[in-house]
Amino acid sequence: MASLSLKHIYKIYPNGFEAVKDFNLEIEDKEFIIFVGPSGCGKSTTLRMIAGLEDISDGEFMIDGKIMNDVEPKDRDIAMVFQNYALYPHMTVRDNMAFGLKLRKTPKHEIKKKVGDASTILDLSELLDRKPVALSGGQRQRVAMGRAIVREPKVFLMDEPLSNLDAKLRVQMRTEISALHQRLGATIIYVTHDQTEAMTLGTRIVVMKDGVIQQVASPRDLYNKP
Ligand code: ADP
Ligand code: ADP
Repeated sequence: MASLSLKHIYKIYPNGFEAVKDFNLEIEDKEFIIFVGPSGCGKSTTLRMIAGLEDISDGEFMIDGKIMNDVEPKDRDIAMVFQNYALYPHMTVRDNMAFGLKLRKTPKHEIKKKVGDASTILDLSELLDRKPVALSGGQRQRVAMGRAIVREPKVFLMDEPLSNLDAKLRVQMRTEISALHQRLGATIIYVTHDQTEAMTLGTRIVVMKDGVIQQVASPRDLYNKP
């Protein structure tokens, strides 16, 4: 279970720039929310505030009714997948996937089982001893995804996770992300510039511009207007 509530959220960077202004959104459990909007409109800033990587300047952010503004990122039960994968180059696939669990002092046998399960789901079982440099782009993106799902978070944040992949892999990974959403029963917020991704994955689409929500709509209402 994870419903998210964002009320009157603002982000003012130290230089005074207002990147997010009066952001209001109620997200239901298991929704797949898409953020779209031009570069610089505040999508990543909003995700980073939700993940706890960036302070919220004003407003209230809740998960399942609990105020999260001051909760440490590692205690938020949220996993984030970035565009650039952010894998540790000196670690194997196995260690990359296990890293977050080790950080949380998860018992060894449990780590082994979770990494095993995730690598089966993501077709990474044969690659566990490799380092990122020896993987293709699609495989690296799968490892980044694996590192997120081993934690079984209630909330997934994905910041243009497929934008560095070629067209064929994008289609394949899009299907996999959809299946993962079903299988994990997680609540997902997903940033993309790709209209097909937004249409096929999203339950609702949030359109942002200049730090403000312009529109919240279903994919059908947004893209299939008569
Ligand atoms: P998007 O993800 O929609 O491309 P961002 O959230 O990354 O947009 O950025 C929103 C705006 O905030 C941009 O104008 C960006 O330059 C600005 N910004 C991002 N990070 C900082 C920062 N640390 N300090 C000042 N301004 C920032
Ligand atoms: P994105 O792909 O999210 O738009 P950016 O290239 O805008 O990423 O930002 C990359 C990094 O630089 C982020 O950590 C962001 O906080 C920081 N940043 C972006 N714009 C500014 C800015 N105007 N001043 C300071 N830092 C910034």
